[in-house]
Amino acid sequence: MMHYVSTRGTAPVLGFGEAMMSGLARDGGLYVPDTVPVFPRGEIAPLAGLPYEEVAFRVMRPYLGGFFGDDEFRGLIDAAYKGFHHTARAPMVQLASNHFLLELFHGPTLAFKDFAMQLIGQMMQAALTKSGERITIVGATSGDTGSAAMEAFRGLANVDVVILFPHGRVSDVQRRQMTTPVEANCHAVAIDGDFDDAQARVKDMFNDFAFRDGVRLAGVNSINWARVLAQVVYYFYAATALGAPHRAVSFTVPTGNFGDIFAGYIARRMGLPIEKLVIATNQNDILDRALRAGDYRTNGVRPSISPSMDIQVSSNFERALFDAYGRDGSAVAQLMAEMKSGGFHISQGALETLRATFASGRCSEDETLATITRTLAETGELLCPHSAVGVKVAEDHLGATPMITLATAHPAKFPDAVERATGIRPALPPHMADLFDRPERMTRAPNDLAALQTLVRERIARR
Ligand SMILES: *Cc1c(COP(=O)(O)O)cnc(C)c1O
Repeated sequence: MMHYVSTRGTAPVLGFGEAMMSGLARDGGLYVPDTVPVFPRGEIAPLAGLPYEEVAFRVMRPYLGGFFGDDEFRGLIDAAYKGFHHTARAPMVQLASNHFLLELFHGPTLAFKDFAMQLIGQMMQAALTKSGERITIVGATSGDTGSAAMEAFRGLANVDVVILFPHGRVSDVQRRQMTTPVEANCHAVAIDGDFDDAQARVKDMFNDFAFRDGVRLAGVNSINWARVLAQVVYYFYAATALGAPHRAVSFTVPTGNFGDIFAGYIARRMGLPIEKLVIATNQNDILDRALRAGDYRTNGVRPSISPSMDIQVSSNFERALFDAYGRDGSAVAQLMAEMKSGGFHISQGALETLRATFASGRCSEDETLATITRTLAETGELLCPHSAVGVKVAEDHLGATPMITLATAHPAKFPDAVERATGIRPALPPHMADLFDRPERMTRAPNDLAALQTLVRERIARR
């Protein structure tokens, strides 16, 4: 039976279903599985060439602890991915002799967030139908999580979705995806602050137990283990397509909250031969600095042309630290307490452990634009700015091992940056061609816990 423990060591140990429904642990930590199942080579090799849905079933099943029956789980997976606009779900294209791009932007909201959110939507809905409960999902977004969450939960009778996003700091397409759903259970809230503020207020709500229990708060940020788990799948899917387990591959991942790359770390621990996981950051480079110098210290968010990565407090890094510190919850709690005063120093031992798995690099604004321009000229592939950050950093890490860079969003989600780099304004796909004609609905709010809690209570009372 698979159990989930908190990275800060004192919250109750939970099963999969409870960990999925509760989000943040009650000691402020994040849930991780107590043991990671290791797949022998004989189980990894046959994944090559299977449909995405079948890979998903085999990779995720050991983590469920029987929470869903096999047939039921297969049904949820099929329902989650049937709305994708590519039969491969996660197709791979080749950029250079040893460099591949995994396109994760063919879901309904055009970013990789759909892979996890569509599945969580199905899983939570199934769990709520059984229990008869009603929940309030509150999430923070740098742009893509919010739209993916609304797409996954809109119209559900027993779920309200409240999304906090930094006012003026998401692209027009991202904002409109959050403000145009007409369903009454979708609530877009623009707060005066950056993503780190939004995420901090969501965590404050979880740490206020009276509020948390009163509104039956659930979370779909990547603090939710189920989201990370869904993202482990495409590492297996892509690596086996390139010859794993018989040959190793590396991945480069455009990183903000460390959720996507942490999923790669889990895949590696499950036995997938991943040589290096390369963290790619934009000018908000706290993770690159931390890995180089051992000092994890925020110096404020600077808005960039890859806004989904404008993050300085990377929640999921806590999960990696938990392992690097020998799964010592009190040591992690101590580091996170130091974070309140701006940062902490990573111990030499923990740093060496992290460096054995992760490499890192940063990409400036100019380099991002230049990479979009050059990649289009050399390969015909039009990159979004986040994927361009990945491609640039990957190119600095190319070697004998095949490199797979994750393309995290569709270029049409960030048309201004793409047009600046190439002169081409990418068109939205047909299913959202009228996005700019739909009326918007959103609320402005201060970066203030009490005000936000009042707003959430009012919204759910109205329904
Ligand atoms: C969310 C997001 C990222 C960063 O992913 P993390 O899991 O937060 O590291 C990168 N690119 C795009 C387009 C995103 O939406």
